[in-house]
Amino acid sequence: MNEAGPTQVVDVVVVGAGIGGLATARLLDRAGRRLRVLEARPRLGGRLHAVEVGDRRLDLGATWFWPGERRVAGLVAELGIATHAQHLAGDALFHDRPSPQRIDGNPLDVSSSRFSDSAVDLVDAVAASLPEGTISTDTVVTRIERGADGVRVIHGDTSTAGSHVVVAVPPATAVRSITIEPPLPERIAGLAANTPVWMGAIAKAVAVYETPFWREAGLAGGAISHLGPLRELHDMSGPDAQPAALFGFAPLGTDGTAPSTAAVVAQLVELFGPAAAAPLEVVVQDWRAEPFTSAPGVAGLTAYQTYGHEWFAEPVDGRLHWASTETGAVAPGHIEGALAAAERTAERILTS
Ligand SMILES: Cc1cc2nc3c(=O)[nH]c(=O)nc-3n(C[C@H](O)[C@H](O)[C@H](O)COP(=O)(O)OP(=O)(O)OC[C@H]3O[C@@H](n4cnc5c(N)ncnc54)[C@H](O)[C@@H]3O)c2cc1C
Repeated sequence: MNEAGPTQVVDVVVVGAGIGGLATARLLDRAGRRLRVLEARPRLGGRLHAVEVGDRRLDLGATWFWPGERRVAGLVAELGIATHAQHLAGDALFHDRPSPQRIDGNPLDVSSSRFSDSAVDLVDAVAASLPEGTISTDTVVTRIERGADGVRVIHGDTSTAGSHVVVAVPPATAVRSITIEPPLPERIAGLAANTPVWMGAIAKAVAVYETPFWREAGLAGGAISHLGPLRELHDMSGPDAQPAALFGFAPLGTDGTAPSTAAVVAQLVELFGPAAAAPLEVVVQDWRAEPFTSAPGVAGLTAYQTYGHEWFAEPVDGRLHWASTETGAVAPGHIEGALAAAERTAERILTS
């Protein structure tokens, strides 16, 4: 084993304070387990992330949850988180030539719910339900050791020991950035290394306006563009249309960089007209450039059939568990998938 001495001994060490790690911790805490959650970033939430604009927050990661996602709906109700319906009314746009075509009605946006302040509300509320001192931020896990009587998780020059470790980090990022000893069985290591990080290879651009002027023109804010840089766009305004916002996803550019704000605004003007030229704010979040989401080398992975693979449900040596959304047997990729993975993991630990 590594020389670093344990500074703390708990029952379960959770690596990653995204919603998967936090939800696992919450279920285990309720069952009386002693926990430590180790988070590499200075903030919680991973792919649930927002930027403050005035007194509101704008989501730079997840935006929606959908009908039938009972775990998200249950948590939202239990924690009293404000939500509202996605704006659907108006026509969508199809952009494959300089003047976009107007599509009668809006086939692009489906009925879904939005977190009225931000998806980070979910993170904050789950984190607040854990005992004080459970979560350590700015704590990068570099090594996990499994032994006959437990696990040791190394971070900096210290470590945390426990009976179980929950890897609530996208598997492809985990196996590229954390040394696991003894090495994972070859089939599991290969599966983890090849499992794409959901939305880990895109940039999300959000533009905030004084008013949702596109709605006044009978447009829904939804668009599909083959001319880019944004390929899929939606209305992302708050419940009372404040802040008024549009957002779009940009896939990896040919030069591997995220679109500039100027390129985003120019495309919004092409799509929605001259009123789009004067945003109050434009924020571009490049998820490929976030090593704790997309470790170098993962952006090109495409084997989505690995999502929710049954091997992710098997704890390695009964002690190393996976709990990121990519490992969820239900809705992998979504927040719902992370909550499903958390449920499965907590149950395995509690019945072991
Ligand atoms: C742009 C975008 C849009 C999306 N839209 C939606 C949507 O509308 N609806 C929806 O349901 N889902 C959406 N998703 C997906 C959703 O955000 C994820 O499913 C969910 O947030 C994943 O949670 P997670 O806990 O599994 O992983 P993550 O959120 O990635 O959490 C992993 C955590 O592990 C930490 N970590 C990584 N390495 C280490 C280390 N070595 N040591 C310690 N900590 C480490 C990370 O910092 C992070 O906090 C979107 C994602 C993105 C990026």
